[in-house]
Amino acid sequence: MGVRRLVAAGPCPGSSPATTGWAEAPRPGHRGRSGRGRVRGGCCPVGPGRRLAERTSPRRRERRRREMVTHTTSVKRSGQGYDATPFLPGRRAGLPGLRRAAAGCRGCPLYEDATQTVFGEGDTSARILLLGEQPGDQEDRQGRPFVGPAGKVLERALADAGIHPDGTYVTNAVKHFKFTVPEGRKRRIHKSPSLREMTACRPWLVAELQRVRPELVVALGSTAGKALLGPSFRVTEQRGALLPWPGLDDGGGDGSGGGRVDDGVRGLVATIHPSAVLRADDRDAAYKGLVSDLRVAAHALDDGGGGSSS
Ligand code: SF4
Repeated sequence: MGVRRLVAAGPCPGSSPATTGWAEAPRPGHRGRSGRGRVRGGCCPVGPGRRLAERTSPRRRERRRREMVTHTTSVKRSGQGYDATPFLPGRRAGLPGLRRAAAGCRGCPLYEDATQTVFGEGDTSARILLLGEQPGDQEDRQGRPFVGPAGKVLERALADAGIHPDGTYVTNAVKHFKFTVPEGRKRRIHKSPSLREMTACRPWLVAELQRVRPELVVALGSTAGKALLGPSFRVTEQRGALLPWPGLDDGGGDGSGGGRVDDGVRGLVATIHPSAVLRADDRDAAYKGLVSDLRVAAHALDDGGGGSSS
């Protein structure tokens, strides 16, 4: 009995009906929907098998690698045009695909000194997405967001505010650790990302929002707030209130010219970054303030997501 070759299922008229997401390969001699040429080692020339083959062919991978190198070189030389968009996978990629692609992002120079990309993680259908600034020292080493001391503060504050940490998705506005090492010292000191770096990294955040589709976003700290609301954002003035979702655009990396994307978010609450609690003179007061702001987010979810100021 011959071995049946399986390819990705799709609307190919020459394939057998798909069963569990995969279909039998086309009959020998089948010419595909376009009728342009005999099938060799894949499905129709216009069908999903061909697209699958293109995505994985060595020639295509090499072309993509060269494009990435060219892009990275031009970013380094000019200092302009920081942009993660060329590194994003297709729109149909899920969060695992995004995570894999982000691991190779060279959209701005921050990848050079950091250990690795720290992508978001958590409940992939969370109602609430928590947005921090950038990974810290521990996050950079472990490759996971909010696993350092600030993460522990956040976890406790969420629980005290009535939000189950396991039901959230956590990520950062910038996915690589930016730091400086003072002369004569070994310890890496956190440095705030620039507006240009935040803008460069935004396509990853937009892509995460589109996949997770939370009802509410909580901006943790000034940088996260600026990434969403612009440079005029002041956490001291705008924290602890349910704000309308400003919407984000995707930068037009797909050649569409950009525009507001449908991410399903309905409201935004800003508060301090949990690391600010650790730095505060009065930690108790800072912690209570954080919990109080998070309670606003919890109530907004209870009320159905929000979308207007309170
Ligand atoms: S900070 Fe963002 S844009 Fe810059 S290299 Fe890292 S993932 Fe890419």
